[in-house]
Amino acid sequence: MDLGIAGKWALVCGASKGLGFGCAQALVREGVNVLIVARGAEVLEAAAAQLIASGEGTTGASVQFVVADITTVEGRAAVFAIRREFDIVVTNAGGPPTGDFRDWDREAWIKAVDANMLTPIELIKATVDGMAERGFGRIINITSSAVKAPIDILGLSNGARSGLTGFVAGVARSPLAAKGVTMNNLLPGAFDTDRLKGTLQGAAQKTGKSLDAVMDARRQTIPARRFGTVEEFGAICAFLCSQQAAYINGQNVLADGGAFAGTF
Ligand code: NAP
Repeated sequence: MDLGIAGKWALVCGASKGLGFGCAQALVREGVNVLIVARGAEVLEAAAAQLIASGEGTTGASVQFVVADITTVEGRAAVFAIRREFDIVVTNAGGPPTGDFRDWDREAWIKAVDANMLTPIELIKATVDGMAERGFGRIINITSSAVKAPIDILGLSNGARSGLTGFVAGVARSPLAAKGVTMNNLLPGAFDTDRLKGTLQGAAQKTGKSLDAVMDARRQTIPARRFGTVEEFGAICAFLCSQQAAYINGQNVLADGGAFAGTF
């Protein structure tokens, strides 16, 4: 299927690896030009080279990168100094740490809200009016299945991301919707990324079990009996960015191998 977005420009945040990289790769394969962002220069540069290899020559997509912390004012300014207008924005940054809510002070909460709620809102604010003027726009926020099925030790994530989810639910239905701009949240369950491995490694150390045993036990909690791949995640993102997805707006799209045990 031709998604009809070749030649568009996408800003993909947190894209040197993991889910963000999967989204960037799927978009480049559709001929979308991408500006990718992450803090670590070396991994980001290698990711850009990989994207160029997968896209250029075949789809003609351009790949740019900027080393920046997207959760800071300076980081976002560095991005918009390179390019001001985007047709597609994929918001993403690292998730907040796990823990006990009794240990989280105001600073911990502000950091989580800044990264996982206010940063996507700032990126939306900076780009959607231009999208509306041009008659096409796609905002994809990478959030978490924890928004739908909260996990107690992920309180910072549950709270901050739910705030973003409520905000997006309102703005997606604003007059922007009649001007070709859609906003959707993409909710990952367990995907095979460094972050997931890091979390499971922590659980292994705590329990004294091997990483393999902890990973196997985790897979057994998922009806699909496996973790999702970044390619699968990227493909969903690219579809939500497509011309064909123009009537999908204000939704929370869960990708979790059936782990959420609810009818809706
Ligand atoms: P990952 O493999 O650790 O990749 C995170 C990417 O984001 C890296 O490229 C990282 O590069 C970049 N990044 C992190 N903080 C950043 C910042 N402040 N500014 C710019 N770039 C930043 O993580 P992932 O598994 O893809 O997860 C992506 C998001 O999905 C996270 O918010 C995570 O909580 C959420 N999530 C993931 C899963 C899962 O199973 N994987 C499940 C639920 C939710 P640098 O560190 O170099 O900046």
